[in-house]
Amino acid sequence: MLAIRAARLFDGVADQLRARPLLLVDDGRITDVDTTGADPPGHAELVDLGEATLLPGLVDSHAHLALDASSDSVGHLAGQADDELLQACRAAARAALAVGITTVRDLGDRRFVTLRLREELAAHPTDGPQLLVSGPPITTPGGHCWFLGGEADGVDGVRSAVRALAARGVDVVKVMVTGGNLTPGSVPYRSQYGPAELRAAAEAAHRAGLPVTGHAHGADGIADAVAAGFDGIEHGLFLTADGVRQDPAVVDQMAARGVVVSVTAAQNFPLGQLPPGIEPGSELAKRLEALARQSRAIIAAVLRLRAAGVPITISSDAGIAPHKPHDVLPWGPGTLASVGFSGAEALRAVTSLAAEACRVGDRKGRIAPGYDADLLAVAGDPLTDLNAIHDVVAVFRAGARIR
Ligand SMILES: [Zn+2]
Repeated sequence: MLAIRAARLFDGVADQLRARPLLLVDDGRITDVDTTGADPPGHAELVDLGEATLLPGLVDSHAHLALDASSDSVGHLAGQADDELLQACRAAARAALAVGITTVRDLGDRRFVTLRLREELAAHPTDGPQLLVSGPPITTPGGHCWFLGGEADGVDGVRSAVRALAARGVDVVKVMVTGGNLTPGSVPYRSQYGPAELRAAAEAAHRAGLPVTGHAHGADGIADAVAAGFDGIEHGLFLTADGVRQDPAVVDQMAARGVVVSVTAAQNFPLGQLPPGIEPGSELAKRLEALARQSRAIIAAVLRLRAAGVPITISSDAGIAPHKPHDVLPWGPGTLASVGFSGAEALRAVTSLAAEACRVGDRKGRIAPGYDADLLAVAGDPLTDLNAIHDVVAVFRAGARIR
C-alpha cells in the first residue's frame, strides 16, 4: 500500500482546494482520501510531496497519436509503415504521460494502430496514458481525413462502417460531420453528411453501446449532429460561409441533452494569434489566419454555450501541426481562463468533465475512493495560478510513480 501526502488537493470537482491530503493507494486505485491530518497506516510506504498540490491526472478528450505534430503531419503519415507508426504513437503517448496526461481519447488513427497501443498500455500502464480510441473516423469518400481510411457513403454505408468499428472494439465512434482544416480542398463550415446519415451513425453507435462524437466546425453540421442524437461535438465553432452563427434553439437542445462540446483550443500562445511554427503562406496558415480573424465571435459562442449550461471540455487535437505537440493539453485550462472561466472550471474541463465526456467518469478525472490512482502533483496553487500546472513535481499512473 502507498500513502501520498501533499500540501493541497484539487479533487477534480470542488471549487476549493483541500489542505493536507493523505491518499491511500492500493493495487492501482485510490482507497482513501484523508484530510484530518492522520498518520498513514504503519504498513504503507509514504511518499511526501511537500508543498505540492495533487490533482487528478489530466484527460485529453481529443488527440491524434498517429500524427507527428510537424508542419506536414499528413504527408509523414502517408510515408510511414504501420510498425513505424506504432513506434511513433508509443513515443507520443510517453510524452503526454510525462506532463501528467493520464488518459487520452484518440479520435483518429490509421488502420487501428492505436488499438494495438491501447492493448500494450493496458498491460504496461506506466508506459503511457490509458487510451480510448475511435480508430479511423467515418468520413465521406474523399472527405475530411479520407486518408485515414474511414470513408463511408450514404445511410447504409455509414451504418455498416459503425458496425465494423464496433466489431473491432473501438471505445467511441467519430464522424467527420463537416469539412476540416487538415485536408486540402475540404471546407470546414460545409456539412459532409446529411441528417439521415447522421441519424444512422448515432443509432448504430448507440445500439452497439458506444458514444458517438462529431467533428463539426460548421453551424449546420452541429445542428444536424445534435438533432441526430450525437453525444459530443468536437471543435464546435458554429462557422458559416461568412462568420459565426449560433442558433439558441440548438444550444438549448445541447444543454438539455448534455451534449459535450470539446473545444480543441489547448495552445501555448494567445487566442487570436497565428501559431508559431506554421509555414507562412501555406494553406494551413491561411486557414488559421481566417480563424484568428473570427476569434472574438468564436469566443462569444463558447461563452454562450457556457451560460446555457452546455458541458465544455478543453482538448488538444494534438499531433495535427507544430503548435499541437502531444504534451500541449496542460495549456488548455489557461486558454479557458483567458476568456473568463474560473480556475476550478478550467481544471474540471481537463479532469472530471473530460472523463465524463470520455465515458470513464467513474474511474478517471477525480481524486476519490475507488478511482484510478492516476495523479499529477504540481508546485504551487493551480486554482489561483493555472501556470502552476506546468511545474510538475510528480506523475502517478495506476498507482506507480513515473516522474
Ligand atoms: Zn482532430
